[in-house]
Amino acid sequence: MRPEILYPLFAPARSLPGIGPRLEKLVERLAGPKVIDLLWHLPSGLIDRRSRPKIAGAKDGEIATIEVSVGLHVPPRTKRLPYRVHVSDETGEMQLVFFNARPDYLAKLLPEGSRRIVSGRIEFYQGAPQMTHPDHIVGLDESAALPLLEPVYPLTAGLPLKSVQKALQAALPLLPDLPEWQNGPWLKANGWPAWRAALQAAHEPKSAADIAPDAPARARLAYDELLANQLALGLVRLRMKKLPGRSIAGDGRLRRKVEDALPFALTGAQARSLAEIDADMKAPHRMLRLLQGDVGSGKTVVALLAMLNAVESGFQAAMMAPTEILARQHHATLQPLCEAAGVRLALLTGREKGKPREEILSALETGGIDILVGTHALFQEDVAFKSLAIAVVDEQHRFGVHQRLMLTSKGGPGTDVLVMTATPIPRTLTLTAYGDMDVSKLDEKPPGRMPVDTRALPLDRLDEVVAGLPRALARGAQIYWVCPLVEESDLVDAAAAEERFKQLQATFGEIVGLVHGRMKTADKDAVMARFAAGEIKILVATTVIEVGVNVPSATVMIIEHAERFGLAQLHQLRGRVGRGTSKSSCLLLYQTPLGETAEARIKIMRETEDGFRIAEEDLRLRGAGELLGTRQSGLPNFRIADIEAQKELLAAAHDDARMIVDRDPELESERGKSLRTLLYLFERDEAIRYLRSG
Ligand code: ADP
Ligand code: MG
Repeated sequence: MRPEILYPLFAPARSLPGIGPRLEKLVERLAGPKVIDLLWHLPSGLIDRRSRPKIAGAKDGEIATIEVSVGLHVPPRTKRLPYRVHVSDETGEMQLVFFNARPDYLAKLLPEGSRRIVSGRIEFYQGAPQMTHPDHIVGLDESAALPLLEPVYPLTAGLPLKSVQKALQAALPLLPDLPEWQNGPWLKANGWPAWRAALQAAHEPKSAADIAPDAPARARLAYDELLANQLALGLVRLRMKKLPGRSIAGDGRLRRKVEDALPFALTGAQARSLAEIDADMKAPHRMLRLLQGDVGSGKTVVALLAMLNAVESGFQAAMMAPTEILARQHHATLQPLCEAAGVRLALLTGREKGKPREEILSALETGGIDILVGTHALFQEDVAFKSLAIAVVDEQHRFGVHQRLMLTSKGGPGTDVLVMTATPIPRTLTLTAYGDMDVSKLDEKPPGRMPVDTRALPLDRLDEVVAGLPRALARGAQIYWVCPLVEESDLVDAAAAEERFKQLQATFGEIVGLVHGRMKTADKDAVMARFAAGEIKILVATTVIEVGVNVPSATVMIIEHAERFGLAQLHQLRGRVGRGTSKSSCLLLYQTPLGETAEARIKIMRETEDGFRIAEEDLRLRGAGELLGTRQSGLPNFRIADIEAQKELLAAAHDDARMIVDRDPELESERGKSLRTLLYLFERDEAIRYLRSG
């Protein structure tokens, strides 16, 4: 249970003054639904109103705070003109300018003959200073209320800065003093304030340096967040490792049959990864292993052989893919191999319904199925295994941590878990997403692969590209034509793809196919199947083909508006070709002029096919924020920490967490108890449930 001391922080943001029902929605979109979400929303800049010139000394463009006498009000002659108020001091005159003004309101705010302090941006108009819509107008006796240093927050359309400031000003005094969870000497060595002081200071910057990530207050809060992340992962992992697993060591009879049926031998990297997996499965604790391998590196076979190890020992195995297309494709790939070995394989997705579904479920429960492949349909409550020993999760970055835990719970606490990622994740991110998960790397491509010839061309040469297609087709090539990602909307993407499809179909006829995210699964599958069978030669697609789809005979990848894709995405897309043994090519069509980042991306794509290097470059170009920000990523989204800029802090938090988990695994010491508060504060309640007295 969340400690009472945190209750005010977890109250809805609408409980703050100025946040009504309308702004509530905007605040939620911007930061989140709770007070604490708004508190984590730190300033991105500050307005400095400390310059207090006389009117004659005011400079064009500066933010100034000036004491003035109010003179004549000049209402506009027509509605479109502004209302003007003349003001002066002993050095000169200027005008305050208001559009769409309400005269009675201005008369009250600025009575003629009164003295006022006004603060805002000075502009010169026809040689004379003026201030349009001053940010603040106060009487001399209220001057203390005028904020001379004003924090600026990232906003969303419709949400005024003042409302955010006001809500935060109300929230900050509510901050409780929380027990210190950081190590005292470490705080001191870094010169970091206590939590409450840190949060307050972060919202009350005194200079630009206070906004920087290395400002003591900000660094402390970032470290808190990283420590919460690392500690939560450490606790979950400890728990999983401690739980008794099964010791599984098959006799190799099914594996041998499958290996005989495979038209190739395992690569060194595949054999090495498999040996690592075997050792984990054989050990009495449970396996938690990440299999990282670039697109086309051959993860599927490794997964199958790992699952067979369990089946040989009389257990069941499950493999979960993020999309229906992928689940079906895995099923189709595994089917002949399983048949050769006499292993019973089944498929379960959202599309299996009614009687067939019931049959699968009952066979699963009685042990009539050895390996079940599926989508997240595998999570549904009525899905029960007789004895699940290993769960393979493919293309993991699309799943959340929560879903991963759900699947493991299907097999009871001892189930081994093998997570496969196709997008190599940079090391820093691996650490934040998986903690100390063991990692196997497929860093060697199957033999005989030829490098993909990657070129870039401006989009205005599209006609030439189309004119070149018949030559490629004559060579027997199959072509992917990927359409621009217009925005994160299936609908708009689909329209662009449909248009290109119609154009190409008009020229090339029936050999052109179309697949996009708005199509029904059955239709998508049918098109993919016709492409795989070679009936379709040119497949126009949106990024639905991005993940994992395997048609080895496809050798040409054309990407329209390549500048709109992220590096990881481009790499994934290119990975769809170069899977067979014939020469492949990738054409990146870009819109000119190219932005700096887009140009860098295209350059990297031309330079390398090494997914690990591309992942590092992607992180560098985009920043971790964006990489993590995508909701699909399933990676933790940090509110304060910038893990690219604060790598050292992450490393320190990692070591710190490991030490805590070693020495005080139940968080029972004085610091341990405070650390529980930290975990609750960052909503890592899940990790606390793993503690004995959680
Ligand atoms: P990914 O790692 O992207 O999931 P896949 O498992 O889909 O890669 O494998 C890509 C292709 O490489 C498949 O057609 C597969 O049959 C083939 N393949 C896998 N291992 C080898 C190998 N050792 N030698 C040759 N081809 C292989
Ligand atoms: Mg795959």
